[in-house]
Amino acid sequence: MPSPTSPHPLRSDFAAAQLALRARTMNDVRLQPDGRYVLYWMQSSHRFEDNWALRFAVLEADRLNVPLLIHQGLDPTYEHASDRIHSFIIQNARELAQRAPSLGLEYQFVLRRTRDDDRRVVDRLASRATIVVTDDFPTCGIAERTARFASRAACRVVAVESHCVVPSAHFDGKEEFAARTIRPKLAKLRDLCLEPVEDRAPRKRFDRALLDGLDITPLDVATLSDAALTTELARCEIDHSVPPVSAEHIVSGLTAARDRLADFTTFALEDYAERRNEPTDRDGSSRMSPYLHFGQISAADVARAAIATGPAAPVEKFLDELITWRELSFNFCRLNPNHGKLRGLPDWVHKTMEAHKDDPREVHYTLAQLEEARTHEPLWNAAQRELQETGAIHNVVRMLWGKSVILWTPRYKTALDHLILLNNKWGLDGRDPSSFGGIQWCFGKFDRPWFDKPIWGLIRPMSIPRAYEKFDAEGYIARWRGAAQ
Ligand SMILES: Cc1cc2nc3c(=O)[nH]c(=O)nc-3n(C[C@H](O)[C@H](O)[C@H](O)COP(=O)(O)OP(=O)(O)OC[C@H]3O[C@@H](n4cnc5c(N)ncnc54)[C@H](O)[C@@H]3O)c2cc1C
Repeated sequence: MPSPTSPHPLRSDFAAAQLALRARTMNDVRLQPDGRYVLYWMQSSHRFEDNWALRFAVLEADRLNVPLLIHQGLDPTYEHASDRIHSFIIQNARELAQRAPSLGLEYQFVLRRTRDDDRRVVDRLASRATIVVTDDFPTCGIAERTARFASRAACRVVAVESHCVVPSAHFDGKEEFAARTIRPKLAKLRDLCLEPVEDRAPRKRFDRALLDGLDITPLDVATLSDAALTTELARCEIDHSVPPVSAEHIVSGLTAARDRLADFTTFALEDYAERRNEPTDRDGSSRMSPYLHFGQISAADVARAAIATGPAAPVEKFLDELITWRELSFNFCRLNPNHGKLRGLPDWVHKTMEAHKDDPREVHYTLAQLEEARTHEPLWNAAQRELQETGAIHNVVRMLWGKSVILWTPRYKTALDHLILLNNKWGLDGRDPSSFGGIQWCFGKFDRPWFDKPIWGLIRPMSIPRAYEKFDAEGYIARWRGAAQ
């Protein structure tokens, strides 16, 4: 295994073997012989490093002796489009645009502000491309958007998977049952997949004259001030009631992700197994989930940093969350088209829900009451406020937050729909495979039957009153009390 200081060359058997597993051709169209460049359409891996789609695009550009254009677009049409999600993406785009020239990369960012604005930018860029390379991602509508685009593109379209440490092709299209079934398979492949690979620019420089006449107007995002960013957000046809998360909680971009990761591995990883159980200890877990969701940093880089700095046992615990649980969720969302519906749950859950569907609930809360944190449980309300303020909830409380809604809604389906909406609307890490995996876990996915109880049936119960014995619930409530309390 090469040491981290001697990564595999991009043109190596190792990289070729990884790409053979990660790249999927999405249409039957040939390479365009008259194409003038390779187009990398950056959809979900918003980074230049450790990005297998970009690596594939660089290799193709060199092989075909053409330059490479990296294009990222942002539309107002994605589900839950808001100031929160838009600003996180644009701030990262600013960093990408600032760094691209020194890396020898041509990167552009196009902002479609309203639904009436030009919506076929990628099609026009593709009309001059030899091949389009893009990201393979199972949620956020990306797989569907890519399939639609590939069916009308006049050149070959290849989707490449970069989000998982271990390529999903290893799992032969079979949905894994639980963490215990996928864990040993991932463990066998993990170290090999973590071997570092060189990242470099393509040989040929891109000349922007190649885009003449295409009527493409990128945003000058590299020089965008914070004030100009706020103005741009206001011009976008998106939900302005979900504000950006304050820089006190998270800063977008690879630099901030690496800083946070370094703090975590240096000061907290050693005690991760204990500290991750205390929700008032915000530094006790990595807080990498928003960065990972947008692909601002790769899971492989996070894993390598943990392995390089930490002692064995806590590192393994951390890698179990980062790789086993995260990649179990990717496996679920990739292979189960019902990952956002009750139908995605195993048979034993359906049987037990059927038996308990009419059990009386202690209270019914509407979506508005939940969203506005107006339940009788201060701990639940605090979790909802943490979500609204920071764009995530501490894992321990997030489980309680999800489980409680099952008790407070008239139907299991209502509970699931409310949780998905709240999580994906307010979470900076929402709309992710781990969002669906985490929420469905509350309903019994990846779990085993427990003991029969009202409402829960055989689903593992969790109760808020018991939480007060397990962690500093009062401290957590005080931290996320909210302005009105
Ligand atoms: C109801 C519910 C909703 C959830 N929604 C999301 C979501 O929208 N987005 C999201 O990324 N995670 C979600 N999770 C999983 C988990 O709560 C978060 O990943 C974790 O709290 C993020 O904090 P961290 O980055 O400090 O995690 P750490 O403990 O530092 O873990 C490192 C990384 O491992 C991954 N990870 C950790 N726990 C899990 C898990 N149980 N399942 C899958 N991946 C995991 C995440 O990528 C995380 O960033 C949800 C869990 C539940 C129970």
